[in-house]
Amino acid sequence: MTEVRVRILAADSMGVRSMATIVEAGGVKIAIDPGVSYAPRRYGLPPHPRELERLEEKKELIYRELMDTDIIVITHYHYDHYLYHDDEAEYYKNKILLIKDPRHSINVSQRIRAHRLLKKMGVENIAKDIHILDNNVYEIDKGLVIRGSPPVPHGPDGSKLGYIAMVLIECCGERIVHASDVQGPISRKALEIIAEWQPTILIISGPPTYFAGLKVEEEQIRQGLNNLSLLAEIVDVLVADHHFARDLKYLSYLDQLRKINTRVLSAAEFMGLPVELLEAQRKLLWEKDPSDNNRAS
Ligand SMILES: [Zn+2]
Repeated sequence: MTEVRVRILAADSMGVRSMATIVEAGGVKIAIDPGVSYAPRRYGLPPHPRELERLEEKKELIYRELMDTDIIVITHYHYDHYLYHDDEAEYYKNKILLIKDPRHSINVSQRIRAHRLLKKMGVENIAKDIHILDNNVYEIDKGLVIRGSPPVPHGPDGSKLGYIAMVLIECCGERIVHASDVQGPISRKALEIIAEWQPTILIISGPPTYFAGLKVEEEQIRQGLNNLSLLAEIVDVLVADHHFARDLKYLSYLDQLRKINTRVLSAAEFMGLPVELLEAQRKLLWEKDPSDNNRAS
């Protein structure tokens, strides 16, 4: 029986905005959401040079990993989840793409970005095959199946940020679920789908706690944290990262979840790397190291 390997290439706990994940199963290499970005402004400050360096490092890693990738999954069209520059089109060449439906259950900005990716970047002409991820079952062979969820909200129900599709990869007794920007999930619908999928490994974004009472209502954040703890009860391994890893209190949220399931991890810990919350620490980084010239130190 072949084994399954899961590697998270980049994530907020590694100092960039991302949930880029590689799953190798049944002789097939799958890249989920291979993109990376940073917050243009945080605490009123631009990214610190250390964040920009990390971004470049992670981008290079994603490029390298995509060279021998067979399938690319895109759960939605936000810049931290796919490659979108013209000169990056080559990375989609000869790949099988499983993509969030670019026409249905999509908001205007993501629809435009999807159109740009497929038409202007020409990805629809150079990819080997393109399939809609939403509500789809992609059976590679009897031992390896990729399922896409129905579209679920990017955070709370009715969010202006649109929809995402979650992914389940079944192989060799493992059920790996990648739930990108569901934010906990805040939505009951997303929670029910994930619970039904019965993940052995769940990689998920936590709620944007740093927006509590600002862009997202506190009640919704509580809902996201609550739903995340429900999932901690039913999965073997829970990698909870992304939105709430932009908060200095992130590790204390993980500690709370570990009271329910000892195998709750940040993506960095999952990969055996130190947790580096560069965006959350941006203010401290600029205070400590205000000059670009100091960046080598
Ligand atoms: Zn995201």
